[in-house]
Amino acid sequence: MLFNDIAYGPIHSRRLGVSLGMEIMPLEHKLCTFNCVYCECGWNEPVAHPKLPTREEVKAALEAKLSTFDFQQAKLDVITFSGNGEPTLHPDFNGIIRDTCALRDRYCPSTKVSVLSNSTQLGRKNIVEALWLCDNRILKLDAATDEMMRRIDMPVNDQLTVETLINWLAQFNGDFTLQTCFLRGEHDGKIIDNTTPKELNAWYRTIERLRPKQVMIYVIDRKTPEEHLEKISPDEMEQIAAPLREKGVPVIISA
Ligand code: SF4
Repeated sequence: MLFNDIAYGPIHSRRLGVSLGMEIMPLEHKLCTFNCVYCECGWNEPVAHPKLPTREEVKAALEAKLSTFDFQQAKLDVITFSGNGEPTLHPDFNGIIRDTCALRDRYCPSTKVSVLSNSTQLGRKNIVEALWLCDNRILKLDAATDEMMRRIDMPVNDQLTVETLINWLAQFNGDFTLQTCFLRGEHDGKIIDNTTPKELNAWYRTIERLRPKQVMIYVIDRKTPEEHLEKISPDEMEQIAAPLREKGVPVIISA
């Protein structure tokens, strides 16, 4: 599933409310530093010269939407960057976020700006700076052990470690939402399961260390590139959330 417009919607997002989606990755294919087994956009494909929308095109597409939106009749909770890959890979990500915040301030000051990111670019100063300008940073950590993170997310940089991701996430001093997709299954003859006691304990310890303001957990919802994946039941998701809630950590479940 690919998004074919730079600005699309608004749509009702199960996690974010009424959301105007922003696509700043190529419109024809996915571009990502992960290759998650559950990715709704499918597997990564090698593309020699990915064509990204320019900063000016993104600004124009957003302004066209906001200037014609009837804010008297409908509400817009959030402008959300996600879509066909990892938005922070755009070379003008910082400028795009600045433009977006300026347009939001002009047309709909109470609308939030959110970015869903896989966290792999948090070692770059201008990306972190741009994320600080947003209202919500929704940052992925699918597993807290290297072995399971690599099996689920299959990072393009095979040297990437969970410890590196955690240190990058720690820069936000808890002012972010940690996002995890729970799943079980098999890929390439290897077991995928971030719900075992070992994986969950490592994940709980990481949350205790990072203290995110919110945890968002979800299950696979659409067709996945790896077919041998199992959707976790709503009951089990509640059980996963319970120890965090007991400690006062807000948890949103999309199951
Ligand atoms: S990080 Fe997101 S876009 Fe990238 S492969 Fe994973 S699910 Fe797909």
